[in-house]
Amino acid sequence: MVEINISDEVKKLAEERGIPVEQLKEVVQQGEATGEKLIFEDQNLAKKQIGTTTVYVVYKRSGDVIDVVTAYSHRMEEKEVTDPVPDDVQPWRCNKCNKNTVRASMNVSYLGITRQAPTMVCPDCGASYFEEHIVTKTLCTAMCLFEKKRA
Ligand SMILES: [Zn+2]
Repeated sequence: MVEINISDEVKKLAEERGIPVEQLKEVVQQGEATGEKLIFEDQNLAKKQIGTTTVYVVYKRSGDVIDVVTAYSHRMEEKEVTDPVPDDVQPWRCNKCNKNTVRASMNVSYLGITRQAPTMVCPDCGASYFEEHIVTKTLCTAMCLFEKKRA
């Protein structure tokens, strides 16, 4: 049985970001069960779409103990990945393909408006993941602007 530890600090951060603790576990469990995740040094990055929200969790695993490092989420629809830059190799590597990801762009849409945001994509399987700063800065800023426009 794998034990998933979530520190008070991470719990607080998740709460601020509107992510229920159960969802953090769900994302980790899916990452571990499917092997669909990125790896960088001792960290894992998994994501899962839950309802209209895509939740990302960074965690460390040592034996049967998992520690959640951080979590972030966004409510934009993740669409196609474009413009991969093969020379712009990123430190995170695809666990399934054992290949480093490269920089690319992903189309994301929200409330009918599509934007591009920088992403990391596996050149073999096309799995694509956003980094925390992209989600918390770029995507959230864009989302708030959309919501303001609509209001
Ligand atoms: Zn891959």
